[in-house]
Amino acid sequence: MANAVTQSIMVVGGGMSGLAAAIEAAEAGHDVFLVEKSPYLGGRVAQLHQYFPKLCPPYCGLEINFRRIKNNPKLKIMTMAEPVAITGEEGNFDVSVKVAPRYVNERCTACNKCTEACEMEIPNPFNYNMDKIKAAYLPHDLAFPLRYVLDPALVQSPEAQKVKDACPYGAIDLDMQPKTVDLKVGAIVWATGWKPYDSTKMENYGFDKYDNVVSNVQMERLAAQNGPTQGKIVRPSDGQAPKTVAFIQCAGSRDENHLPFCSSICCMASMKQAMYVRAQYPDAKITIFYIDIRAMDRYEDFYRTAKEDANIEFFKGNVAKIAEDPATKNLVLRVEDTTAGALHEINVDLAVLATGMQPVTSEAPVPTSVAYDSYGFIAQAEAKPGFIAAGCARLPVGVTETVQDGTAAALKAIQSIARR
Ligand SMILES: Cc1cc2nc3c(=O)[nH]c(=O)nc-3n(C[C@H](O)[C@H](O)[C@H](O)COP(=O)(O)OP(=O)(O)OC[C@H]3O[C@@H](n4cnc5c(N)ncnc54)[C@H](O)[C@@H]3O)c2cc1C
Repeated sequence: MANAVTQSIMVVGGGMSGLAAAIEAAEAGHDVFLVEKSPYLGGRVAQLHQYFPKLCPPYCGLEINFRRIKNNPKLKIMTMAEPVAITGEEGNFDVSVKVAPRYVNERCTACNKCTEACEMEIPNPFNYNMDKIKAAYLPHDLAFPLRYVLDPALVQSPEAQKVKDACPYGAIDLDMQPKTVDLKVGAIVWATGWKPYDSTKMENYGFDKYDNVVSNVQMERLAAQNGPTQGKIVRPSDGQAPKTVAFIQCAGSRDENHLPFCSSICCMASMKQAMYVRAQYPDAKITIFYIDIRAMDRYEDFYRTAKEDANIEFFKGNVAKIAEDPATKNLVLRVEDTTAGALHEINVDLAVLATGMQPVTSEAPVPTSVAYDSYGFIAQAEAKPGFIAAGCARLPVGVTETVQDGTAAALKAIQSIARR
C-alpha cells in the first residue's frame, strides 16, 4: 500500500517570496511551516528604505503579510531555523530542521530592559555592520516576531547573569540549547533568496580601503530612519553631506570574473537611490555610470522621471578604477566614455557600487539533490517532484515578481500534494 500523503507544506525562507508562498498555502487550508534562518521575517526587503517604483516604505507591504500570518493558526513560524537534511519524496518528505537558541522565550514583551543592562556591543548585521548594537537586542524596531535575541558571545560572558536579572518577565533563558526538529511534509518551497555580492572582491574600487565607497545595500541603510545615521545620507569619512555622488552600475555584474549575469534590479535601485539623495540635498549632482539601463515595462516611467532631473546625469561609461585623495578622502574615478572613446578623471564625494544579487544557494546548497544553473540559482521552478523554488533562489528579480513567484509556488506545492 502506498504511503499516506502528508498535507502540510514547508516553506524555507521568510523573505517576500517565502511569505507569499506560506500565506497563500495556509489560506488555502494547508498546514504550513515557515522556516527562517534569521531572527525575524521579511528578508532583504526589511532592510530597504523605500521600494521602487512607488517609493513607499517596505513595511507597508510587510505589515499586511504579518497581519495575515497572525490571523492564521495553520501557519507556524520557526525563526533562527534552517533545514539540514531532507529525505523522502513528493507527498512524504522528512526534514530535519536545526534551530539555534535565541536565549529569549515567548514571555518577552520587548521592554528593552535587557538592552539597557547590557554593555557588550556587536556589529549590527541589520545595518550591514556600519554601526554597533548591544549584544542583547531587537534585530530592528519593526521586527516580526517582536522578540529580543541574545548573542552567543554575551551568553558565554560574565555579563550574562546581569542581563538575565534585568528582565522583569523571566524571558531570558541562558540554558537554551540548539535543537533539531523533525518535520514530515508533503511539499517544499525553497525561497532562500540572495546575498549582496562581496564588494571587496573588486579590488579596483577600493571598497575596503576607502571610507566613501559604499555598496548599494549600505546606501539603503544610510537613507533609512532606523539606519546607522538616522536616515541622513552622509559621507562615512567625516559625516558631511555629499555634494557629488556617483553610482557605478554593474559593479561586479555581467562580468566573467565576478557575477556573469544581470541582476535586473540594480539600475532601478540606483535611480531610486539617486532620488533619495535629491530629496535630502536638492543641489547635489549625481552621475549614474552605466553599460545599458535596464528599466523594463512600467519601470520605463521611473527611468524617464530620473532622466528629466537636471541634477541626475546618465553617463555611458565604464569605471575602471577608483582612487582616493588621502587628504580630503574625496574619490577620483577613472572612466572610459564608451560612446566617445575618451578617458576621463571625475572627482566625487561619495561613490555607490551597484552590486548584484548572488543566490544564497550558490554557497549554501539545498540539503537534497537539485539541479542549479551555472550561476548557482535553482535551475527549474519545480526542481524535482514536490520541491519548488521561488523568488531570488530561482532568478534575480524585484519584489513584485518574487511575490508572484511565491504565489505560483504555493499553487504548485498544493497541486503536488493533490496529485498524490
Ligand atoms: C540595493 C537593492 C535595492 C533593492 N530595491 C528594491 C526595490 O526598491 N523594489 C523592488 O521591487 N526590489 C528591490 N530589490 C530586490 C529585492 O530585494 C528582492 O526582489 C527581494 O529581496 C527578493 O525576495 P526573496 O524572498 O526572494 O529573497 P530574500 O529577500 O533574500 O529573502 C530570503 C530569506 O531566506 C532566508 N534564508 C536564507 N537561507 C536560509 C536557510 N538555509 N534556511 C532558512 N532561511 C533562509 C533569509 O534569511 C531571508 O530572510 C533591491 C535589491 C537590491 C540589491
